[in-house]
Amino acid sequence: VVAVGLGLALTLTACGDDSGKGGDGGDASKAKVGVILPDTESSVRWEAADRPALEAAFKKAGVEYDIQNTEGDAEKMTALAESMIGDGVTVLAIVNLDSASGAAIQEKAAAAGVPTIDYDRLTLGGSASAYISYDNVAVGELQGEGLQKCLGDKAANIVYLNGSPTDNNATLFAEGAHKVLDANSKLKVVGEQAVPDWDNEQAAKIFQQLYTAADGKVDGVLAANDGLGGAAISVLEGAGQAGKVPVTGQDATVEGLQNILAGTQCMTVFKSSVGEANALAEAAIAIASGKDAATTGTVKDTEGGRDVPSVILEPVAISKDNIAEEIGKVFADGSMTYDDVC
Ligand code: BGC
Repeated sequence: VVAVGLGLALTLTACGDDSGKGGDGGDASKAKVGVILPDTESSVRWEAADRPALEAAFKKAGVEYDIQNTEGDAEKMTALAESMIGDGVTVLAIVNLDSASGAAIQEKAAAAGVPTIDYDRLTLGGSASAYISYDNVAVGELQGEGLQKCLGDKAANIVYLNGSPTDNNATLFAEGAHKVLDANSKLKVVGEQAVPDWDNEQAAKIFQQLYTAADGKVDGVLAANDGLGGAAISVLEGAGQAGKVPVTGQDATVEGLQNILAGTQCMTVFKSSVGEANALAEAAIAIASGKDAATTGTVKDTEGGRDVPSVILEPVAISKDNIAEEIGKVFADGSMTYDDVC
């Protein structure tokens, strides 16, 4: 737990810290935020980008915080949440591993009087006071449009490698991609499968099976993030097809950006972690002070039926065409430098 002194918090406020803009802010000194990240395997983003962005956001706002990673273990997430509640967090943010375990954790927190926030993934049937994320259907649309562009005008067989079936975002990514690609009658889906826990090793096995089942007649791959895309690329490499078959991605990871530069990946989607982390810090401060978070609208919880107050940010597609212009934004986010990628 890192405590930031009250003096610093007051100075920042006096200097015009804009936390909570739009709502009436709240008192940073009242907040102690617990954040539980999901794992270290499904994407490098959680430790490489989100953790430092969250630390910086909480420090800037003068908020005490505790960030833990549950390493893909839902029971561990429950234990971490209980210990954070015992340590007196005034608001708890989670990236759920699945909606059922997330909702149970949120119920426990509520019973202890601790409000919760969904960070990045909406907990269906949950009770979070706010949801902070990107427009995830738009992410899928960008992936679909990117793949379409890389394929050009020709008839093509495509395979979908979707994210974890327990991640509501994965449903939304696939929905957005289908919306775009299903509208093109020249495209034929020759395989589609969800990858449990976004596991990259399983993704390679699944893609190999789909590829073999399609007799290698695969012209494009809609992979839901850079890790799954990398798995597909490794299989394509084995078949001498890497660079010939466009593959999508997401998260603007070092691996994804390098694959774009190498020509083996068609595109990725950049979702600034700094933007998402700052939005979480602002919402947490407001909610911990008993106020409503400033939001951009609501998102429907399709299971619980609630309209969840939400902050929804806009994703950016990065492909060979615009990487020169957009890469500066990725570097500005702070998780990697020019030397890491180039
Ligand atoms: C996130 C993606 C990430 C994936 C795997 C999703 O919920 O929105 O950015 O790649 O989980 O961690």
